[in-house]
Amino acid sequence: MMKKITVFVLFAMTAVFPAAASVPLTPVQILIDVGHGGVDSGTSYHDLFEKEINLQIAKRLYRRLSEAGYRVMLNRDRDQALSDDNQWLNNPSRHKRDLAQRKHLAKELSPQMMISLHVNWSSDQQRRGPVILYQANNQSFLLADLLQHSLNQVFGTRDEPVQGRSYYLLKHEYCPTVIVEMGFISNTRDRAFLTGPAGQKKIAQAIADAVSEYLLIAGDLQQNSSEETLLNKLRRFFHQ
Ligand SMILES: [Zn+2]
Repeated sequence: MMKKITVFVLFAMTAVFPAAASVPLTPVQILIDVGHGGVDSGTSYHDLFEKEINLQIAKRLYRRLSEAGYRVMLNRDRDQALSDDNQWLNNPSRHKRDLAQRKHLAKELSPQMMISLHVNWSSDQQRRGPVILYQANNQSFLLADLLQHSLNQVFGTRDEPVQGRSYYLLKHEYCPTVIVEMGFISNTRDRAFLTGPAGQKKIAQAIADAVSEYLLIAGDLQQNSSEETLLNKLRRFFHQ
């Protein structure tokens, strides 16, 4: 179903914006925010830490996207806290400085998207599957929707993306940003999937597929559509 919609939208975009390919490219297209690190382990299950899973899958995703020709950046490639690098927010809270560093990197680099990788936890051990959180803008929703459906296929789930109203990392307009909760560390099936090479490969591929679909649909448009959102343009196109 999603594929059909995507193809349709793509066709529509080509018809409306034939000159999109001539837009100059930005240095970094995809900023991968590797959740947690250093003293901040994120969620855990016994001695298994979220920060490690995030990094392992981020590296796989980085490789896949780079090999596909995209310009990608990881904000950490080892077990470190980003709060130590923070230059923008003089706040006594290490957690706040860490998050500020992640957000302001997006400001400095102006990528076409930021994808923040995380692992979920629930007291309900049956709870499983990916959850994508998006900002209050259409590009972020589109990216989240593509990611959610791509990952749903891998996990055999049918969840929909959720607007992340209270998340600090999502409260900015530097670039479309999403938080990808890749699965639940508290669920046996998800945990095996998140930690094994086969599962990690599938997750990285599913994210990479959604990212390239998003870039095909919306990537270049951000450069020249500061006043109008993508979906507004689509709406206008369909109603004219
Ligand atoms: Zn997390």
